Amino acid sequence: QAKDKYVVFGNPIAQSKSPLIHTLFARQTAQDMVYEARLAPVEGFQAAADQFFSAGGRGCNITVPFKELAFTYATQLTERAQLAGAVNTLKKLDDGGILGDNTDGEGLVQDLLRNQVAIQGKRILLIGAGGAARGVILPLLAQAPANLVITNRTFTKAEELVAMFAAYGEVAGMALGDLADAPHFDVIINSTSASLSQSLPGIPSSLIHPEVVCYDMVYGQEQTTFNQWAETLGARQVIDGLGMLVGQAAESFMLWRGMRPGTEQVLRELRRTLQAK
Ligand code: NDP
Repeated sequence: QAKDKYVVFGNPIAQSKSPLIHTLFARQTAQDMVYEARLAPVEGFQAAADQFFSAGGRGCNITVPFKELAFTYATQLTERAQLAGAVNTLKKLDDGGILGDNTDGEGLVQDLLRNQVAIQGKRILLIGAGGAARGVILPLLAQAPANLVITNRTFTKAEELVAMFAAYGEVAGMALGDLADAPHFDVIINSTSASLSQSLPGIPSSLIHPEVVCYDMVYGQEQTTFNQWAETLGARQVIDGLGMLVGQAAESFMLWRGMRPGTEQVLRELRRTLQAK
């Protein structure tokens, strides 16, 4: 019998760490499956996904630029995918339908908890209002923070997210310019892509104090620009987004295979391969 087949669709895709992560998960849990990277043409996601599933494919991850297309491709959505407006995981259902999920936010939450960073009852600042921010808000609110404040360079986008999630928990918006007067935050999550261009997201340095934990969703740099800045200013702990990447993969694996792989060892191995480059 052929092995169960999984892929990650993206464009570009050669840089994806997902095949390595899932291959390590499969080995660790002794699952008989294969997982490969698959380049889909920019205009051809639907055809590529149709072909994959009709050839017996069991599930896939979706990365840039297809997450919104995967959202419309799914015939059923989880609540977190619905609210994220984007899908990073598809699963073929027994009835032939395709379930769309978004595991990014849970990946972040699991990585914070793994790092012993509490969310419950804490004051959280989320910087950024793009797709990554939208995807993590519901899973963060589900951990019952004291409140979640969203800020963004383009503040209207933060306000839109606040309106969208107001019914789900304590969420508020605050312009970058008003943050200096805000009470201290316990955790600051940078969901902007600023570090990718060696820039800072624009929060005042007075927010960095000896108790604050800073999380940058960017990964792949020795130390991200934001984390370097926060560490220099004396933050208690800085964490990059590699653990979120492994965490979202573990959640996808759980959806497909019904078992949760351990992330610690895979994360170490992944860091080693990245550093070797
Ligand atoms: P989007 O393009 O949807 O949003 C980008 C966000 O970054 C916007 O809020 C934008 O602000 C802000 N931004 C960009 N450059 C700057 C800057 N120089 N200064 C201040 N703000 C800036 O991207 P995504 O939300 O999809 O992704 C954001 C980042 O998250 C990416 O770097 C991605 O790699 C990372 N990510 C990591 C994951 C992980 O597993 N670790 C998972 C998903 C994403 P504005 O609205 O004003 O333009």
